[in-house]
Amino acid sequence: QAITTDMATLTRQVKKFATDKKLEIEMLKDREEYRREFLGNVSHELKTPLFTVQGYISTLLEGGAMKDKNLRKKYLERAEKGVERLVYIVEDLDMIAKLEMGDESLEMIEFDIIELTQNVMDLLEMQANKKDITLNFDSKYYRPIMVFGDYEKIQQVVMNLVVNSIKYGKQGGSTEIGVEDLTNNKVIIRVTDNGEGIEKQNISRLFERFYRVDKSGARTEGGSGLGLSIVKHIIEAHDEKIYVESTYGVGSEFSFTLEKVETTPSR
Ligand code: ADP
Repeated sequence: QAITTDMATLTRQVKKFATDKKLEIEMLKDREEYRREFLGNVSHELKTPLFTVQGYISTLLEGGAMKDKNLRKKYLERAEKGVERLVYIVEDLDMIAKLEMGDESLEMIEFDIIELTQNVMDLLEMQANKKDITLNFDSKYYRPIMVFGDYEKIQQVVMNLVVNSIKYGKQGGSTEIGVEDLTNNKVIIRVTDNGEGIEKQNISRLFERFYRVDKSGARTEGGSGLGLSIVKHIIEAHDEKIYVESTYGVGSEFSFTLEKVETTPSR
C-alpha cells in the first residue's frame, strides 16, 4: 500500500516537474523569438537612414557635388536629416527597451495637466505651422487641474500624440487638445485631429512596436513606428487607459486617463 502511494506521488511530482520545465522552455523560446524579432526590426529601421546618410556623403566625396555650392548644401542637409532620424530612432529604442524591461520606474508627482498640455503646444507650434495646422486648446477647462503622474513621461505621451496629429493631419487642418474632468476621480486628455484617419482593420495594431499603417507614407514623415507603443507602455505603467477612435478620411481621437488629485472644492 505504502509503496503504491509513494509511486503515485512520485509520478505526480515527475509529471509536474516535466510540465514546469516545458512551460519554462516555451517561455524562453518566446523570449528568444521576441528578441530575434526585435533585433530584426531594429536593424531594418536603422538601415534606411544609415544608407541615406552614407549615400549623400559618398556622393559628396566623389567630388562633383562638392564643387557646387548649392548641391553641397543640399546634400549636407539631407545627410543631417538622416542623422537626426537615427538619433530619434535610437532615443525611442532606448525608451522602449527600458519600459519593456520594467526597470524604468515612475517618478510620481502632482502637477497641473493644463500647464503640461500648454507647454507641449508651445513646443510643437512651429512644427504645426509648417503644415498650416492650428493647435487649439479646449478653453472651457482653462484652470489648474491637478493630476498624479510622472511629469516627463506624461509630457512624452502628449508630445507623441500631438506630433502624430500633425504628421497624419491634413495641410491646413487643426488639432484639438482637451482636458476633461471625469466623475470617478479621473481626468481624460483628448487629442483630436481632422486628418487622414485610420481604417478599422488597422486600429488594433497601432500600438504594436514598429507598426505603421502606410509604411511608405509614414516613412517620409520620419517616424520610427515606436511612438504609440511608448505611449501605451507609459499609460499602462500608470495603471491608466488609452483609447482610440478613428474614422478613415475624417480624423482620429486618441485619449487617455489620469488620476485626479482631490483638491478642496472652491466656493
Ligand atoms: P510613427 O513613428 O510611424 O508615427 P506611431 O507608433 O506613433 O509611429 O504610430 C503608428 C502608426 O499609427 C503610424 O505610422 C500611423 O500609420 C498611425 N497613426 C498614428 N497616429 C495617427 C493619427 N493621428 N492619424 C492617423 N494615423 C495615425
